[in-house]
Amino acid sequence: MDLKSRLDPVLSTARESGRQVDAEAAFPRDAVAALRDSGLLGLTLPEEIGGLGGGPRELVAVVSGLAGACGSTAMIYLMHVSAAMTVAAGPPDEWPDMLPALATGRSLGTLAFSEAGSRSHFWAPVSKAQHSGSDVRVDARKSWVTSAGFADVYVTSTGSADSDGVDLFAFPSETPGLAVAGQWHGMGLRGNASTPMTFEVEAASTYRVGAPGGGFDLMLGTVMPWFNLGNAGVSVGLSTAATEAAVRHTSAAQLEHLDQSLSSLPTIRAQLAKMSIDLASTRAYVEQAAGRIAEPADDTVLHVLGVKAAANDAALRITDTAMRVCGGAAFSEHLAIDRYFRDARAGHVMAPTADVLYDFYGKAITGQPLF
Ligand SMILES: Cc1cc2nc3c(=O)[nH]c(=O)nc-3n(C[C@H](O)[C@H](O)[C@H](O)COP(=O)(O)OP(=O)(O)OC[C@H]3O[C@@H](n4cnc5c(N)ncnc54)[C@H](O)[C@@H]3O)c2cc1C
Repeated sequence: MDLKSRLDPVLSTARESGRQVDAEAAFPRDAVAALRDSGLLGLTLPEEIGGLGGGPRELVAVVSGLAGACGSTAMIYLMHVSAAMTVAAGPPDEWPDMLPALATGRSLGTLAFSEAGSRSHFWAPVSKAQHSGSDVRVDARKSWVTSAGFADVYVTSTGSADSDGVDLFAFPSETPGLAVAGQWHGMGLRGNASTPMTFEVEAASTYRVGAPGGGFDLMLGTVMPWFNLGNAGVSVGLSTAATEAAVRHTSAAQLEHLDQSLSSLPTIRAQLAKMSIDLASTRAYVEQAAGRIAEPADDTVLHVLGVKAAANDAALRITDTAMRVCGGAAFSEHLAIDRYFRDARAGHVMAPTADVLYDFYGKAITGQPLF
C-alpha cells in the first residue's frame, strides 16, 4: 500500500488550515474532504468492501503524521477509524451499504459514548433503551461527540433493554431523533466539534451493532485496541512536531551579545536531549504495541492498556518542555508549539483516561479483575 502518496495531499491541506482551524475553532472541512478523497478513511477496513486492508502499524503512521499537521483532523480521523472498526465487527444486517460507505470515504463515522452520568467511564452508560411496541427506543444524552453535526454515522451506546449489558447502535445522521445539543469550545483540538448530542430513536433494533447486550465486549475487544493505539499515535505526532519545532527554534534563535544560539546553552540542550529520548522511547513502545495488536500475544492486553497512558503522558512532558525551552517565542503562538501543547492535553482526558488506564494496568499485573 502506497501510504505516502495518499497521505501527502492530506497533510498539505491539513497543514495549510491547521492554524486557522485552531484559531477559529472551525471544523477542518478541507482536510476531512481530502481524507475522503484519499481513500484513507478505509485504511483498516478490508479491500473486498473498498478499504485498504491496512493494520495497526499503518494507523499509527497516518494519525501521527496528521497530528503534526492538525491535531483536530487527526482526532476526527481516529474517531472515524474507531467507529468503522466497531461497525465492521458486527455490521447491522439491514444497512448493508453502511460499511462500504465508511470504507470508501462516502461516510465519516464517530463514536458517541460518553454520558454526563458516568463521565469518562464510557463502558457504563447510564441511559437505557426501552421496549416500545415490538421494538426498542433509544433515549440517550451524550456529553461529547467528536464531529457532532458533521459525521454521517454515529456509533452510540446505551444500556440494553433486555439485560444489564450494553447495546451499541450505528445511526446514520439522517435518522429521525438525532440532534446536536450544545456548543464546543475546547482548550485544544479546537476544530473537533466535540459537542453534546441527543439520540431519541424509535425502532432502533435495525441499527444495532453486534449482538443484543454485546456492546461491552465490542468496547473492550474492538474499540479499546484501535482507539488507544491511535490516540497514542496522535500523542506521538504532537510530540514529534513539538520536538522538531523546539530544536529548530533554539538552534536559530541568537543571543547576539554572546554570539551563540539558545541551543548552545547547556540547560537548553539538555532539555532538548530529554525530549528527544522521551520521544524515541515512546515511539518504540507505540510501535511495539502496534505489533502486539497486529499479531496478538499474551501481553497484548497490557500493551492496549499501557500504550495510550504512556504516550499521553510523554506528550504532556514533551510539549511542556518545548514551551519552556522556546520561552516567549512559544508563548506568543507563532511557533505552533502552544497548539501542540494544548492539543496534547486532550488525549490525556479522552476516555479511557490515562489515569484510569494506569489503574487498569496495575490491576492486570497484580491479577485483579479490571471491572
Ligand atoms: C477533545 C475531546 C473529544 C472527545 N470526543 C469524544 C467522542 O467522540 N466520543 C465520546 O464518547 N467521548 C468523547 N470525549 C469525552 C472523553 O472521552 C471523556 O469522557 C471526557 O473527556 C471525560 O471528562 P470528565 O471530566 O467527565 O471525566 P471524569 O470522569 O470526571 O474524570 C476526571 C478525572 O478523574 C480521573 N478518574 C476518573 N475515574 C478514575 C478512576 N477509576 N481511576 C483513576 N482516575 C479516575 C480521570 O482520569 C480524570 O483525570 C471527548 C473529550 C475530549 C476532551
